[in-house]
Amino acid sequence: MNPFPKALQDLHSLGKEETLEYGRFLWREGDRGEEVVLLLDGNLEVVHEPSGGETVVLRSLEPGAIVGELACLDGRERSAGVRAVSACKILRIPASEFRRIVSERHDIVLELFWQQVDRVRSLTGRVTQVHRASITDSLTGLYNFGFFRERLHLEVDRALATGDPLSLAVFDIDHFKNYNDTHGHSAGNDALAKLAKTIRSSSRRGDVVARYGGEEFVVLLYGTARDEAATFANQIRLRIEETVFIEGDPEVHVTVSGGVAVLPDDAHSAPALFEAADHNLYKAKQSGRNRIVSEPSGAEKSA
Ligand code: GH3
Ligand code: MG
Ligand code: MG
Repeated sequence: MNPFPKALQDLHSLGKEETLEYGRFLWREGDRGEEVVLLLDGNLEVVHEPSGGETVVLRSLEPGAIVGELACLDGRERSAGVRAVSACKILRIPASEFRRIVSERHDIVLELFWQQVDRVRSLTGRVTQVHRASITDSLTGLYNFGFFRERLHLEVDRALATGDPLSLAVFDIDHFKNYNDTHGHSAGNDALAKLAKTIRSSSRRGDVVARYGGEEFVVLLYGTARDEAATFANQIRLRIEETVFIEGDPEVHVTVSGGVAVLPDDAHSAPALFEAADHNLYKAKQSGRNRIVSEPSGAEKSA
């Protein structure tokens, strides 16, 4: 059975069939676009070969695929290499022949257009997936440290430009090492995931909630001043304290300590805001844990 859509079947008369052995390249990245290839049988791979790095497979091609048409149409260099990953039956069509037929046959142009649309859609989906994975902490599903740091800088710039308040709350689990030692590392992981859920569900939609480190969490609250941020952080602290972390064992409790800092009162930059919140977290730990400290920075000096 001919695997090609009807419009592309007429391309067959423009080339001749040949066999491409396993491992052979049709062309490499940077080559000139001198031919279009129809894959009749076997499998090809589109690959990127970074200098000094591992080859990256961009996509696989099944029988019925047409490949190399863009460089033949726009006259640019090949944007990627193509190699055989099994013995293939192919048909090579010279670029000049291909250009001639597409200038005459709108049905072929339309078919190629729809194939490009499918390609772009599937690539967009993959880019979205990869991007989401790159900004997400896999254990908790919250944003990861890298994404948080990026957003912290953006939100600080926005707040400084508009004059809006911006609060940062940092949380650290109390005596988590003991929890792991008593209940095991896997139970510790479950507790981290449960605690993350509690923080996320207590936050507003636009708040940036991230796992900052092993057992440290942060929430960035745009447009929120000190009192509201302290109330928010205390609500989270109380909810965590009330959560049953081990099913059937309501006596097991997890608590967190938290520090809150506010821009522009406590800091005028992202690192200074973080440092001020971390300083308050330190005070919360020092003063007995399971509490939130939201003192203005420098309060201890002026007191
Ligand atoms: P403190 O109240 O002073 O914060 O005491 P702590 O024991 O929580 O603090 P410490 O920094 O001494 O220990 C943090 C512990 O968190 C150590 C480590 O075993 C645990 N931890 C960090 N990341 C993970 C993780 O991904 N999974 C699990 N299960 N435990 C983790
Ligand atoms: Mg810690
Ligand atoms: Mg801790």
